Amino acid sequence: MRRLPSAPAVRRRALPVRRGAAAGLAAWRRLAAATGLAELVDLAMGERCAACHRPGGPVCAACADLLDRRPRPCRPRPGCPPAWAGGPHAGRDRAVLIAYKEHGRRALAGPLGRRLARVAAAGGHAVPGTVFVPVPASPTALRRRGGDPLRLLVSVMAAELAGRGSPPPVVPALRHVRPVADQSRLGAASRRANLAGALAVRPGAAALLAGRRVVIVDDVLTTGATLAEAARALRGSGVRPRGAVLLAERG
Ligand SMILES: [Zn+2]
Repeated sequence: MRRLPSAPAVRRRALPVRRGAAAGLAAWRRLAAATGLAELVDLAMGERCAACHRPGGPVCAACADLLDRRPRPCRPRPGCPPAWAGGPHAGRDRAVLIAYKEHGRRALAGPLGRRLARVAAAGGHAVPGTVFVPVPASPTALRRRGGDPLRLLVSVMAAELAGRGSPPPVVPALRHVRPVADQSRLGAASRRANLAGALAVRPGAAALLAGRRVVIVDDVLTTGATLAEAARALRGSGVRPRGAVLLAERG
């Protein structure tokens, strides 16, 4: 009997020929996200997998199998609480997150939010008394994306962790208190300097966190500068974060 090529081999060959079409589609999606028409574009163009660009989105079954791996503890970073991530910030993992954050693929909030819930459970945070604190988007990122994509993911995560009970509290306790530059163009030392003192606990929020297991949530862990600044701001208000939950770890 003739052997069929393995599924990974088929996928490797399928990717390059679709790259041009995918880039065009991504440009449309960016425009749609900026104008609030992302869902209409998905409907009109048929939803493709955000990872491999074949039909069957938002994430096709083959890519979902690849991406829903076991969460892992992150390499320790200075000033950061113990952190867990769902995977590397590379390849298909990165493609899915970028499609959600930058290209307005809001249908990905479900799979990404559920992945965040698996990370929280793996890190030991699916326990009563836990409060999740999302890292806030900078005002510049808020304007560019028309909102904070992480907030929706954290809501999905909390609903998933609820099971049959009530969802764990999500407290947006942190806020930016001064402008920061775009982190993506900066090295590790510059990132720390850029963010030092940039976050603070909102007035009244510390009381909501007192005596609870506080866990910080963010999308990507890179140098750890953002997570360390969030932890510093919480500690400054007398709140010691127990851990952090992230979708992806770079490096
Ligand atoms: Zn796929």
